[in-house]
Amino acid sequence: MSRVYDIAIIGAGPAGIATSCEAIIFGMRNILLFEKSDNHSDTIRRYFNDNKPVDKDWKGVHVDLKGHIDFKDGTKETTLDLFEDSLEKRLLDAKFNTEVSKVKRLVDRFKITTTTNEVYYAKNIVIAIGKMGKPNKPDYKIPSSLKSRANHTIADCKGNEDVLVVGGGDSACEYAYFIHQDNNVTFNYRRSEITKANPKNIKNLMNCVEDGEIKAKLGVDIEKLEDEDGKFKVFYANGDIEKYDRIIYALGGVTPKEFLHSCCVILDEKDHPIVDEKNLNSLGVYLAGDIAGDIGGSIALALNHGYNIIKDCMKDEVFEEQSA
Ligand SMILES: Cc1cc2nc3c(=O)[nH]c(=O)nc-3n(C[C@H](O)[C@H](O)[C@H](O)COP(=O)(O)OP(=O)(O)OC[C@H]3O[C@@H](n4cnc5c(N)ncnc54)[C@H](O)[C@@H]3O)c2cc1C
Repeated sequence: MSRVYDIAIIGAGPAGIATSCEAIIFGMRNILLFEKSDNHSDTIRRYFNDNKPVDKDWKGVHVDLKGHIDFKDGTKETTLDLFEDSLEKRLLDAKFNTEVSKVKRLVDRFKITTTTNEVYYAKNIVIAIGKMGKPNKPDYKIPSSLKSRANHTIADCKGNEDVLVVGGGDSACEYAYFIHQDNNVTFNYRRSEITKANPKNIKNLMNCVEDGEIKAKLGVDIEKLEDEDGKFKVFYANGDIEKYDRIIYALGGVTPKEFLHSCCVILDEKDHPIVDEKNLNSLGVYLAGDIAGDIGGSIALALNHGYNIIKDCMKDEVFEEQSA
């Protein structure tokens, strides 16, 4: 008879780590944590710049932390350390390099299959995969000769380049601000005003625009791209044509609806997962973190989701809370 875990958590970002840690603290012992990359917090590692300030009340939204992970304002590095310590302290053994491909509901348990066809069983499932696994792409074609210089992060920026940053959210603002000292940066957003980002990020960006350090092209879309002598030739909808060495697309992530379908998650008519106040989607299927909301989440919200879920899972159990 195969072992049946009490809970299987898919994704070791803030939401998955919090759920696992709360599970241990609340007395669960049979916990499985899957992470497709080789380390936890892959979104933070890949999309946050080194030394990026990390705000607890992200975008100015105050969140009262309910759980046991003591998350505070800090930097990318202190945030990663906090999650590293949280996993170590609770001796949590995540299955790294293990990507879940499917979850099937059986009579009294879930069957979890990985991309390498390993099979596991659990009574409860937590989907905490975030939304950055599949970044949004533009509608127009990117010349194949330039694909290596059309990026979703600034990791490949070399300095001394003409860089176009496209997007209107926090990633776009932060990327433009972070690289502007070493590059000639143009910031393009199709709307005339940036409203979706953290006010602090908007302020940093607009100060640079006012000082002429970053060029803004707001309220205009890009119609097409061509390769001209190894550079992006960008045709804007207002007739402007400009050339860049690199384009950074910071357009957020797509809800992975096929994956959610194959994990027994019920979606609404707009393909957003349905969750109640306990983060429950359907019997035994919970969603935590960014994937649980149709708008952008935050680390603090993800941590609270983990706490809500474990409270709900353990509501009928007699347990002894472990010291935090
Ligand atoms: C540039 C940028 C700046 C930000 N700054 C802040 C900030 O200052 N403060 C703040 O609170 N928030 C910030 N955020 C938002 C914050 O990063 C997210 O809200 C948070 O990471 C969500 O956590 P999560 O656990 O839901 O998802 P994620 O952090 O995306 O983690 C999901 C994890 O699941 C794994 N995974 C995915 N699919 C599978 C699978 N099939 N099998 C196994 N594992 C899988 C991924 O590899 C990943 O490690 C920022 C976001 C960006 C992009």
